[in-house]
Amino acid sequence: MKNNNFDHFAFHPLLQDIIEKLGFKKPTEIQEKVIPGILKGQSVIGQSRTGSGKTHAYLLPLFNKIDSSKQEVQFVITAPTRELATQIHDEVRKMIHYAEKDGKWIAKLLVGGTDKQKMMDKLKTPPHIVVGTPGRILDLVKEDALSIYSATSFVIDEADLMLDLGFINEVDQLLVRSKKDIQLMVFSATIPQRLQHFFKKYLENPIYVKIDEHFSPETMEHRLIARKHRDEADIIMDISKVIQPYLAIIFTNGKKQANELAKGLQERGLDAGLIHGGLTPRERKRVLKEIQGLRYQYVVATDLAARGIDIKGVSHVINAQIPKEEEFYIHRVGRTARAGMEGTAISIYDESDLKLVDKLEQKGLTFSYVEVKNGEWKEAKPWNERHLRTKTTTNVEREAWKQVSKTKKVKPGYKKKMKRQQESIKRRLNKKSKYSK
Ligand code: AMP
Repeated sequence: MKNNNFDHFAFHPLLQDIIEKLGFKKPTEIQEKVIPGILKGQSVIGQSRTGSGKTHAYLLPLFNKIDSSKQEVQFVITAPTRELATQIHDEVRKMIHYAEKDGKWIAKLLVGGTDKQKMMDKLKTPPHIVVGTPGRILDLVKEDALSIYSATSFVIDEADLMLDLGFINEVDQLLVRSKKDIQLMVFSATIPQRLQHFFKKYLENPIYVKIDEHFSPETMEHRLIARKHRDEADIIMDISKVIQPYLAIIFTNGKKQANELAKGLQERGLDAGLIHGGLTPRERKRVLKEIQGLRYQYVVATDLAARGIDIKGVSHVINAQIPKEEEFYIHRVGRTARAGMEGTAISIYDESDLKLVDKLEQKGLTFSYVEVKNGEWKEAKPWNERHLRTKTTTNVEREAWKQVSKTKKVKPGYKKKMKRQQESIKRRLNKKSKYSK
């Protein structure tokens, strides 16, 4: 009998074996919180982002419940894009592979852009698990090539993106064609108002679990560079000379900006990939493959395109524009510093962004103001805070040194503590001067 930290879920031994082969040592927070409810058949709303282990938060308990003696659709898993659906299907296939001959389970990936007739032929034997985009699944249900009425559980992954991309109607129509008491599992990074209406319609007393983003200041750095009316491509070229990213994602606030920036970087000799929702599915697939194959060191992306895509090894996140909402900043930087790896977020800011920076600081993030000069990082002053450029800076330093208790033996982390203290004093001084203006 295997002994690991998944024991308390009392999974089937076959599933324990699969978990072992997946190499998971202990459940992630979202898994810990939703698996018991899912095993009991309860509906769940899980608010967490990609990287939290949410896919297995539903896959593990669902696999535990598969009845291989019944040749009918038991679970339907929907995702807003082909790539996401394909990634989930890959995870499902991996688990089936690990179950070897014991699990005679069939899973089918149903997404657009593939030969529908071929797909219909393959569905003559109903799969146990269906993974796909809502549009294509609905299409096949309407054609009578697939019945989902037998399904006991239904997953809506990345529900807010589903809403943004306009697929919630198709999901709605799929649910109309399912059992009334189907177990629904919704995972979403944010829960906008419109989703709440949807929940009211379909969910009775669901378990609601929210996983807060955790930042570890030890592994994550947040740097700010003032734009000062310069071209973003020029600033990023400067940055590229002082960093050695394994993979850097450069975020823009829209498709147009992404196109322009990628062009600007290419013209300056930086071979950057580009991914946004305006690409054709074929182009998107090609770029994703190239990114995963580490063809690029830099990739320009929009929020939607980057969301949910599990690109491993992102060492740097560069914000060519700071997003307008805190949540997006957090999602973007969440792409790096995963699993204890070090990560750096570098944001180009304007004066108007400083309010958001302030809010993020209140959440516990620490930013440092920097610039690149003669091919080196240099500390910089906040661009608009002229009062800090002159005498208050020295006051800040003096004040900080006073407040950080000095011991004879310098403890590890002492410099960091000092820096944090300075930042917090700066913030307080900033606030004071704002009020006294
Ligand atoms: P997700 O949030 O579902 O995109 O998962 C992110 C990554 O975490 C995937 O590569 C999973 O294989 C991995 N993962 C999921 N659960 C665990 C776990 N309990 N222990 C270690 N890795 C995990």
